[in-house]
Amino acid sequence: MLSARTVLTRTARLNNARLNSTLVVAEHDETKLAPITLNAITAAGKLGNDVSVLVTGANAQKVAEQVAKVNGVKRVLVAQDDKLKNNLPERVAPVVLASQKQFNFSAITAGSSAFGRGLIPRVAAKLDVSSISDITQVHSADSFTRTLYAGNAVKKVKSSAAVKLLTFRGTAFEPAKEGGSGAVEKAPSADIATDTSEFLGQELSKSERPDLATAKIVVSGGRGLKSGDNFKLIYELADKLGAGVGASRAAVDAGYVPNDMQVGQTGKIVAPELYIAIGISGAIQHLAGMKDSKTIVAINKDPDAPIFQVADIGLKADLFKAVPELTAALK
Ligand SMILES: Cc1cc2nc3c(=O)[nH]c(=O)nc-3n(C[C@H](O)[C@H](O)[C@H](O)COP(=O)(O)OP(=O)(O)OC[C@H]3O[C@@H](n4cnc5c(N)ncnc54)[C@H](O)[C@@H]3O)c2cc1C
Repeated sequence: MLSARTVLTRTARLNNARLNSTLVVAEHDETKLAPITLNAITAAGKLGNDVSVLVTGANAQKVAEQVAKVNGVKRVLVAQDDKLKNNLPERVAPVVLASQKQFNFSAITAGSSAFGRGLIPRVAAKLDVSSISDITQVHSADSFTRTLYAGNAVKKVKSSAAVKLLTFRGTAFEPAKEGGSGAVEKAPSADIATDTSEFLGQELSKSERPDLATAKIVVSGGRGLKSGDNFKLIYELADKLGAGVGASRAAVDAGYVPNDMQVGQTGKIVAPELYIAIGISGAIQHLAGMKDSKTIVAINKDPDAPIFQVADIGLKADLFKAVPELTAALK
């Protein structure tokens, strides 16, 4: 028999542990984890507490087993339910809230992707706290760095919220590696309303090329390409380099390429080893999405194009001549 005192101390310790645990909400496509979740797990680990991961979906079990093997993950909560197919934020939020009620996490987090950005502010509103988006640095459990004004100012913020609701910029944190052995358990049941929103279908761009957000090399084209057909110059160069392909908003708006290829403030944020900007002027909204790349190369015929101010290597040339030459030289 345990003495009353021992029971009390143990309960206090348990409660304390619960109060100091971070939840990461996993993003996945029903078969595999989205890479940004691995970056988010690293960032969450920097808050200094145990990391739990919640996997929701119509087929969540398999992904949960993958997550359990990630280094630093102590516990994986699984909510598998047909109502969670495609993980609509309106339906995932009640599961997060039910988990919060049971485990009293000190932080609820996700990668700053369309999924995380849809979910975290929704949960924050329900918990009546302010969320902090697109964090690039974790200083302690309550202070963070994020950028604003399209990446032109860096802001350090301190949160006094009882529970921190955070999204992390994927490119700012290393992906967590394999090597963990977290316990997988069922998430608490939640009342998932199905009458507010419905998933009707999706059109995904299919590509054999590396994913833009995680590619080591990215080749991007802008308005200078002049047509969608001419984008084949970009694809040929990218394929030689094993690169992902991006675009400026002008190229997207002109219909040269689909919207999910857009790099920038309102598109994807990338930070590859090498970013090659071709026929892109370098507007601040574009720079917001790529200026943390390790090496930036620009090909532009205008020597005054702002892109040259951030480029490590700049070539003032007609892209229609320079790009085929570069591709041929890589043969
Ligand atoms: C709220 C808001 C959000 C935005 N978000 C984004 C965003 O996420 N991403 C984004 O990219 N933009 C964004 N924009 C748009 C942004 O302001 C620019 O309009 C856009 O980036 C311009 O694209 P571009 O550089 O391809 O086109 P342009 O500015 O027209 O530049 C084309 C470049 O190609 C060069 N060129 C032309 N022909 C050749 C040739 N033959 N050889 C070599 N060079 C050539 C020209 O010298 C020029 O520098 C946003 C704007 C707003 C207002």
